[in-house]
Amino acid sequence: SILVVGSINMDLVATAPQLPTPGETVLGTSFTTTPGGKGANQAIAAAKAGADVVFVGAVGDDTFALELREVLVDAEVDSEHLREVAGPSGIATITVDGDGQNSIVVVSGANSRVIGLTDDDLEALTGADVLLCQLEIPLDTVTTAAQHAARSNTTVMLNPSPAQTLPPALLEVVEVLIVNETEEEQLGEGTLDAVPHVVTTLGATGARYRGPDGERLHVGSPIVDSVDTTGAGDAFAGALASVWNPSVWNRGPRDALAFACAAGALATTRPGASSASPTRPEIEALLRK
Ligand code: ADP
Repeated sequence: SILVVGSINMDLVATAPQLPTPGETVLGTSFTTTPGGKGANQAIAAAKAGADVVFVGAVGDDTFALELREVLVDAEVDSEHLREVAGPSGIATITVDGDGQNSIVVVSGANSRVIGLTDDDLEALTGADVLLCQLEIPLDTVTTAAQHAARSNTTVMLNPSPAQTLPPALLEVVEVLIVNETEEEQLGEGTLDAVPHVVTTLGATGARYRGPDGERLHVGSPIVDSVDTTGAGDAFAGALASVWNPSVWNRGPRDALAFACAAGALATTRPGASSASPTRPEIEALLRK
């Protein structure tokens, strides 16, 4: 199984002909609310890709909380470890203009309150094959979870997004780093070299891999009709985690990357983030093409 310790939030998306300047009010043309957060998106992506997934995170005591919990349950992600804390759920208000330019305000809300792990969380972590984390919750919690995972033989996979300097205590227990090219550059060689497996996503170009013995490979992404690349990275990370465990999939990094690339590619063929991530049969069908 996969344990995700991470963020969950509601994206509030308004479209308008142009973005408002300071002090200005503009009339918008549409509004949607979409569950998001890298933690939840990747947990859902992994579950849809066929894994048993447990999510550890927090929602607030507002009306978004119920909907956020529901999106996990609908994807068959175990939400027993999701806590409800006082105050708002994490949100992002996103305004998109006619050219697709956006301006975004993120309020971490409950995500900043994912502090410490309960005995129940730790027990689930001990039994999991993979711990998958991102950096939208407090870094201390990610570090604690990763250290515990490492002691329990649970593989630690980290998507260090948003990129920030990783404390040595975290870096030394990460086994697999999943980055895009921007994050790769921001983290720098020193950080990447400290991790046994580094997977770098390259958009439509696919992904590359650098293994512990310096083994390098590149896997192309299937050519698809992309309509919205939102969530492609999360679909990739979740799918990769779902096939990383050698007891489930023992065919090595090339096949694992091909599986994850197919998931990322399929996610770009549909709008939205977690709702765009493909199911295992869909991924396998694309791989057979
Ligand atoms: P991020 O969104 O985090 O920057 P990428 O853009 O690198 O991540 O996309 C993640 C993965 O999704 C890629 O490795 C690739 O497999 C797939 N992908 C993204 N964009 C496309 C595309 N236009 N066509 C096919 N696959 C894509």
